[in-house]
Amino acid sequence: MNNQMELVFLSKAENEAFARMVVSAFLVQENPPMSVISEVRTAVSEAVTNAVVHAYDGKLGKIILRAQMNHEAVLTIDIEDFGCGIDDVRQAMQPFFTTQPERERTGIGFALMQSFMDDVKVYSSPGSGTTVRMSRRIREENECG
Ligand code: ATP
Ligand code: MG
Repeated sequence: MNNQMELVFLSKAENEAFARMVVSAFLVQENPPMSVISEVRTAVSEAVTNAVVHAYDGKLGKIILRAQMNHEAVLTIDIEDFGCGIDDVRQAMQPFFTTQPERERTGIGFALMQSFMDDVKVYSSPGSGTTVRMSRRIREENECG
């Protein structure tokens, strides 16, 4: 392990930007390309938005963000909530699947996370919460950092 951090915040919409900024600041120390920073920010933003709008649905609850950087420049991020959980994770991860079509959600949050990160895993227990674990190599071995 090269570095790690943990942040606990409440499920308020304004904390999406806060979480995104914290991850960028954590990441920038490793000198990744700008495109990588922006893609990781988007993935974090989608996962935090899901915790705010789906897990807690307007109620206040805790969200934990953990980030780890290993010596191979692989970033792993966990976003954990203690909200309603997901009954069928496989279905939830299908592109364009949403349980909130009436609120103009398009169901592409998980698809974006999968396209911007190397790996995305979702662990969920209905009634007790969800953890999204995403990882990505943030620069090639031969790039200096
Ligand atoms: P979009 O992200 O395009 O605004 P969306 O949030 O509905 O729409 P996804 O982010 O792909 O789409 O999520 C798909 C579905 O998975 C959601 O509609 C919701 O039912 C469920 N879901 C996702 N994250 C959580 C979570 N943390 N807790 C509970 N349910 C979740
Ligand atoms: Mg979403």
